[in-house]
Amino acid sequence: MFELPRSTDVLIVGAGPVGLTLAASLQGAGVDVVVVDKATEVANTSRAAVIHARTLEVLHGIDISDELVRRGVIVPRFTVRDRDRALLTIDFDDLPTRHPYALMLPQNITEDVLTSRLAELGGRVHRSYELARVEQDGDGVTATMVGGETVRALYVVGTDGMYSAVRDQAGIGFTGDTYGQSFVLADVHLDWELDEREVMLYFAPAGLVVVAPLPDGRHRIVATADVAPEHPDRDDIQALLDARGPQKRPARVKDVVWSSRFRVHHRLADRFREGRVFLAGDAAHVHSPAGGQGMNTGIQDAVALAARLACVLRDGADERILDGYEAERRPIAGDVVAFTHRMTRVATVGHSGIRRIRNAALRVLNQIPAVRRNVALNLSELAIDRRRGHADDHAGLAGASAAESVRDFDATPTAS
Ligand SMILES: Cc1cc2nc3c(=O)[nH]c(=O)nc-3n(C[C@H](O)[C@H](O)[C@H](O)COP(=O)(O)OP(=O)(O)OC[C@H]3O[C@@H](n4cnc5c(N)ncnc54)[C@H](O)[C@@H]3O)c2cc1C
Repeated sequence: MFELPRSTDVLIVGAGPVGLTLAASLQGAGVDVVVVDKATEVANTSRAAVIHARTLEVLHGIDISDELVRRGVIVPRFTVRDRDRALLTIDFDDLPTRHPYALMLPQNITEDVLTSRLAELGGRVHRSYELARVEQDGDGVTATMVGGETVRALYVVGTDGMYSAVRDQAGIGFTGDTYGQSFVLADVHLDWELDEREVMLYFAPAGLVVVAPLPDGRHRIVATADVAPEHPDRDDIQALLDARGPQKRPARVKDVVWSSRFRVHHRLADRFREGRVFLAGDAAHVHSPAGGQGMNTGIQDAVALAARLACVLRDGADERILDGYEAERRPIAGDVVAFTHRMTRVATVGHSGIRRIRNAALRVLNQIPAVRRNVALNLSELAIDRRRGHADDHAGLAGASAAESVRDFDATPTAS
């Protein structure tokens, strides 16, 4: 274990994908950072499995997008299905981006790529340090770990996940609720004859099941369940696919590589900043996994916050530029919470009459190209950012002047 520095410019609490992105972005910009995580080891489970176009765009700023694309599976299309029938087809391949697709990649590999990049840039994660207390004064923040160690920082960022201690210490509320259903997750090997370049969302009377390709010939299965088993096994996943998936060419589960269940919440932090303390990622917003937006939105928070912190700490910009972080990111997170909540409700309609109306409506919407494109722009998170006039140049943090890009952004009338 490396000795924990006693002081730094930015203390990042939590080395999940969001903390790692923030750390690499700041390290690349020449800002002094310390990253702590309470876990002794890096998490090696699959969890969030999709990286959207907008996230790949912003990750060019730390030069990892090509590596992620190399390791992932490119998927140009999502379809919503009722058994063998496609109700709605969402194409990503004509989106205005250099990444016109969704990239399927298990979260542990994404974190692995981020960790390697952080190391290349000269950074590291200090593990087995659990933040216990945060105290602010006019000049900085003193963060105290459970073991009594302290770090003095100009700014602290809580990227410590849904149960964020940083958020609690800053006295920031986390408003929202928990869905009644839980979700089953499994990475499996399948006998599967359908298109491998497609994510399929099956809307069925018993609930939703998603089948998505992963690297190494695996598939990710996500399904709603009233009571999910703790470790869903082969029979559980097979039963879900039989009841909800394709019928003409049914899937057969050969084995389960990893499985889990999780409860889903939709919550938004009341503020993203309290003085010198900031929140990003799951610490600031959690939502349904519908569309796989969680990790994506968090990574984009990290890049946006890094740009603003670099302005102040590297370029000597006025601290007021930090005020724009919440104005920029909280409405986006609010939109994502609302969008995924709507999608979850549509996908999990229980009443058979309403389901028939929903399916008929989806088939009508499928005939309207503008609707399909709008859904694609939302899922890829290109729409949300562009609607709010986000500066693409945030992605160029390590190279061009972060100050210029953020100032340009804040000068646009839609920015706040
Ligand atoms: C089982 C499971 C399945 C999921 N599946 C999906 C999915 O299919 N699609 C999707 O979009 N999302 C999914 N998610 C959510 C996704 O994993 C999160 O959105 C993403 O990890 C958020 O990243 P983060 O960096 O904000 O937080 P996290 O990944 O939660 O990282 C937080 C880090 O902070 C550390 N930490 C916490 N408290 C402290 C403390 N006090 N001091 C120091 N360190 C601390 C933790 O050890 C952890 O490393 C899933 C989550 C789980 C648990």
